[in-house]
Amino acid sequence: MNECLNCHVKVGGRQTVCPICQNKLRIPENGNDHCIEAHWPVNQRRRRATFLYKLQLFLALVAIIVMLGLEFLFEIRTTAAPNWSLVLSAWVICIEILLRYFMNRRFVLVPMITICCLAAIAMLAMTAHDLGQLSVFLGVVFPAILMAVLMANTAFEFLHHGDNNMAWNLLTVLSCIGGSIAYLLHYGRGGVYGMMWSLCLILAAIVLVAVIVFRGRRVRAELERRMDF
Ligand SMILES: [Zn+2]
Repeated sequence: MNECLNCHVKVGGRQTVCPICQNKLRIPENGNDHCIEAHWPVNQRRRRATFLYKLQLFLALVAIIVMLGLEFLFEIRTTAAPNWSLVLSAWVICIEILLRYFMNRRFVLVPMITICCLAAIAMLAMTAHDLGQLSVFLGVVFPAILMAVLMANTAFEFLHHGDNNMAWNLLTVLSCIGGSIAYLLHYGRGGVYGMMWSLCLILAAIVLVAVIVFRGRRVRAELERRMDF
């Protein structure tokens, strides 16, 4: 009887591959033992990727320990950034979490952009707070990132249907509208900061209208239909 060395089963009849795992069976009367070698082909690329991932994780942990040690054991501090080692460690941990999150997933651009930018907003807010620049972050960087994500997600939604791009884009639109209204109500419309948030609000409103008009349709086809080319 032929035998699968991988599953340890004997297979009757004239089968030459295992019905369970599809490996070549060992056929004793032929004396062919070549299948003793690779049962499962080793995926070298995956192996290398796993090794690189572990290596960078190790380096990241070392970096965190070194930074915390420098600040809290050797008292290397600066007045400009009172908690520099904690902030940098948080950045490293955040990047590791994102890496872990994306490694086992299919590459889908829009959710990736959105999640990365949300993470960046949170981390930049923390960094700005430590540097004493929170108002600059809230007034300029935050709305700028939101607008960039909004435009990118809108472009991808129209270029590429499916993959729930619309839901993600709608989430971005609502974030922009919510953020703008919250900021404008709390801090007013004055100055450059107010202008950034007003711009964000206007852009979000335009995108919202565009999303409703073009919902689920190809941009070109819809334009042709409406303009009556
Ligand atoms: Zn088998």
